[in-house]
Amino acid sequence: AIDNASLAAYGRTTSEWSRLHFAKLMDIVSSGVARVVGFDILFSEATAYDGAFITALQNARQSEARTRVIMPIAGLDMGEADVSQTLTYSAVITPQRAFLEVIDNLGFVNAYPDNDRTVRRYMSRALYPCIGEDCTEANQTGYSFAIATYLAYLRIPALAIPQVIRPDDGGLWITEERRIAVDDNGLWLPNFFSVPDETVFTVVSFVDVLEGRIDPALFADKAVMVGVMNSTGSADVYHVPTSQAGARMFGVEIHANAFESIFWNVSYREASAMTEIMLISVIALTSSLIYAHLRWWWMWVLGAVLGVLWAIIAILRFDTTGEMLSLFLMLLAVVLPIMGNMLLDIVTETIRRERTEAQLKAEQDLSALRLVMIEEKDQQNQTLAELSMLKTQMIRMASHDLKNPLGIIITYGSLIQEDVAYDPSVMKPDHARFIDSMVKSAHDMLTIIEEILNLEQLRSGNIKKDPLAINYVVSAVVAQNQMESVDKNHTITLTMAENLPLVLADYRQLFQAITNLVGNAVKYTPENGKIDVRVKMNGDMLRIEIQDNGYGISEEGQKNLFKEFYRVRSAKTAHIQGTGLGLSLVKAVIEAHNGKIWVESAEGVGSTFFVELPKFEGTLSDDA
Ligand code: ADP
Repeated sequence: AIDNASLAAYGRTTSEWSRLHFAKLMDIVSSGVARVVGFDILFSEATAYDGAFITALQNARQSEARTRVIMPIAGLDMGEADVSQTLTYSAVITPQRAFLEVIDNLGFVNAYPDNDRTVRRYMSRALYPCIGEDCTEANQTGYSFAIATYLAYLRIPALAIPQVIRPDDGGLWITEERRIAVDDNGLWLPNFFSVPDETVFTVVSFVDVLEGRIDPALFADKAVMVGVMNSTGSADVYHVPTSQAGARMFGVEIHANAFESIFWNVSYREASAMTEIMLISVIALTSSLIYAHLRWWWMWVLGAVLGVLWAIIAILRFDTTGEMLSLFLMLLAVVLPIMGNMLLDIVTETIRRERTEAQLKAEQDLSALRLVMIEEKDQQNQTLAELSMLKTQMIRMASHDLKNPLGIIITYGSLIQEDVAYDPSVMKPDHARFIDSMVKSAHDMLTIIEEILNLEQLRSGNIKKDPLAINYVVSAVVAQNQMESVDKNHTITLTMAENLPLVLADYRQLFQAITNLVGNAVKYTPENGKIDVRVKMNGDMLRIEIQDNGYGISEEGQKNLFKEFYRVRSAKTAHIQGTGLGLSLVKAVIEAHNGKIWVESAEGVGSTFFVELPKFEGTLSDDA
């Protein structure tokens, strides 16, 4: 290495150096039995000591070591874009003719940076205009410095090179055992892994060699490259993709690495863009499929595992086929889907939240609406309640006010009936019938009015309850009806259990209710019917059953029976008159007494009405 120490000792640049230094180097290196010396230094100017250098070169060649020498040829103006293989004479610099005649071969020293100014491409082969007289194509073909040095290392004479080197599709056979991959422009991507100080090749300072600080035995059987390194004054440095921490490499270091690539047979080629795209897509797709089922931190764990896996695959592949896959892109393919997945998660979560918020808002709106509706309904209810009260008041008023005039009609009608109606001298028989009809209708009206008034009275809670014996009430009702049912020839029986308890009830109301039930049984049972009235205990309740074998009630009828003004419609009972108020009155009375009422009935078979009342639990006071 021509390093800072060497420059300090012999001059600022190598072009200022005396060629005696190089002559001395040749002596030392060949005495150490080096196989080949490659100078990465252009000796294109004539100097006073060229003779001594040439003698040293010849001595080395003829020594026991038969040390060969490679000198450089450099293309001028070979910018980034120009990778043409043919160089014009004016575009190359070669060593002086005097050196050309004693050295073994020439090698290209140009390494071509890609667009990003990083050296990935390294010239493997170039044609240049013939310099000597023998201008065969073989003489016009030059190889990269590393290849030329390697061939000299193998002691292959320049003239035999065309027989050893054999281009084939996408590659170049350097010997039968060594093949490198080259692209369409004859550019080769060597291996830059062998960095000095660390691995394969040894670096020593030029000045140390000359001052005898290095044992020449170090060079035994070696290829020795001489060039500028670690020099602050030198611009001969380039970015390479795979050096220590991506650092820049000196030209001679790049050549040394390229030599090692061939020597250890670790030349490589970049995978084609297509291969990489496909591989990366497969990795990205599989990893994202797997990630889709994992939580984010598992994704990272798996991502790391996959990354390591892919790195191992890439290294194995490089080792076996020399194909270089971009580790960076592969890692990206493993990591990007994780980020994509996380991003997707964030997006879906955001959308979900937005939706939930929207839903919440909709629900709030809805409940606000409901509130408004409830308020409206409350208002309606209030109006209804007011209306109902008005109705009740009107009914009461009408009933009261109608009762008196009706009473007058009935009283005077009855008087007329009694006094004159049956005396043909006073009244025609037809007129007497009219009077009868009028009095009966007035009675019916009075019944309706009384029933309405009764209902209203019950609803207003205006009842007076006393402890009373139910058997007394029931037998009074039955006795009354027995007389009235004579017309239809019914048989009415009454069965009562003994020691029945008292009930707390309004006598008049209860009498009315049971009268209605027994009356209905009489009314809705055709002639010669049988009506049974039973009073007994059922647990704690006092039960009254009124059974008939009359027309019976349809199921539809049973459901509505107890509603106001409801009347069951059937052909058989159509002729029977009624208001439909009776049973609703009964129900109101029973419920006002904390009792229950229900019916069991079948059409054509008969009906049984059940009434249950709680027994009186208190004690009788003196005045009861
Ligand atoms: P109505 O004044 O019509 O008798 P009710 O409220 O007393 O009014 O009775 C309602 C309807 O129930 C009656 O129209 C009648 O069809 C039916 N009903 C009541 N009691 C009986 C019964 N014991 N047998 C058959 N149908 C009955």
